[in-house]
Amino acid sequence: MIFPKPKHRKQRSQHKSNPMLDGSELCEICHIATAVETHELRSGKGYRLICQELSFQLKLCKTCHDNWHLRMTKVEKKPYRAMKQKEIIERTAVSKAEWIERLGESWL
Ligand SMILES: [Zn+2]
Ligand SMILES: [Zn+2]
Repeated sequence: MIFPKPKHRKQRSQHKSNPMLDGSELCEICHIATAVETHELRSGKGYRLICQELSFQLKLCKTCHDNWHLRMTKVEKKPYRAMKQKEIIERTAVSKAEWIERLGESWL
């Protein structure tokens, strides 16, 4: 099975389907423009839902979202992934082992 069920499902109750941004938050890359789109930070088959459950996402303006996909390199993206991962681990008490089990990779 590619997708083992996590043993601890405590965070499950926090699940929300990808919420529409209400225009009250700033883009997490430029911090100038209003965030209008979310980007899942772990791409690939099966990871989208987990990203949504853990909020392993960036809220971005259209320009930064385009940049992310078209121009930014893996090295440039890593600090954003690391920052989010750290934030989520601190907030949800997901262990690093559990993180790797669910996301397949750690950026810390
Ligand atoms: Zn932006
Ligand atoms: Zn995206």
